[in-house]
Amino acid sequence: MKLYLDPGHGGSDPGAQGNGLQEKNLALDIALKIRSILENNYENIDVRMSRTSDITKSLSQRTDEANAWGADFYMSIHINAFNGSAQGYEDYIHSSLSDSSATAKYRDIIHTEVMKLNQLDDRGKKKADFHVLRETTMDAMLSENGFIDNAHDAELIKQEAWRRDVAQGHAIGIAKAFNLTPKQNDDRGTLYKVIAGSFKDRENADNRVAFLQSRGIESFVATATISGETWYRVQAGAFSSRENAETRVREIESQGIDAFIVTD
Ligand SMILES: [Zn+2]
Repeated sequence: MKLYLDPGHGGSDPGAQGNGLQEKNLALDIALKIRSILENNYENIDVRMSRTSDITKSLSQRTDEANAWGADFYMSIHINAFNGSAQGYEDYIHSSLSDSSATAKYRDIIHTEVMKLNQLDDRGKKKADFHVLRETTMDAMLSENGFIDNAHDAELIKQEAWRRDVAQGHAIGIAKAFNLTPKQNDDRGTLYKVIAGSFKDRENADNRVAFLQSRGIESFVATATISGETWYRVQAGAFSSRENAETRVREIESQGIDAFIVTD
């Protein structure tokens, strides 16, 4: 299954703005997370992205690229803005499509899975004549993940853990809609722990936990005895899949913190 994943806006086009946040950055973060969840957990998925960094790219360039590649599905990720009081999640398919169309059925599945995890009000399944929905030759959907100018939604949007949940909802929905095959875990029984710092001094470990918390990454202090010495390790997740542990390492490293994986 060929998925064209399109984080909205980018470069000179910030998209919606509010509460110190810019849509282009959040949409990119969510889309990168969707890609890594899908690639780490499913076999028959090929993901291309309209952008993987903060670049300017026109809507025509995006849809031309997806059409030329022969994508099976076009998923565009956005964050909404309106008047400060509107809030919640909504998604769109093209206005010409019926509720019984294949696109509508894929959207129904993805909508359900995203709503299970996003903690947002459900504004419904909508239709519109957006460029990316109209000019794509494959099934296409656009999601608007909360309102950046609404205090309630922005409080969630700014949290890395929330963006991971939103990405997870999209990934599970896409996997269900397209019957993706889960990857077999060939390291059954092994637990991959992500360590975001190891300290001789407990206070330093506690400070690291607080810092990660401020960036939306949950962690706790675990003691480890190495060569007879006690170390305070900051554990930020434990995974049965090494790839998922590596994804967490990259998330932590993007916050300027070194992290590594242990299997003890
Ligand atoms: Zn947008």
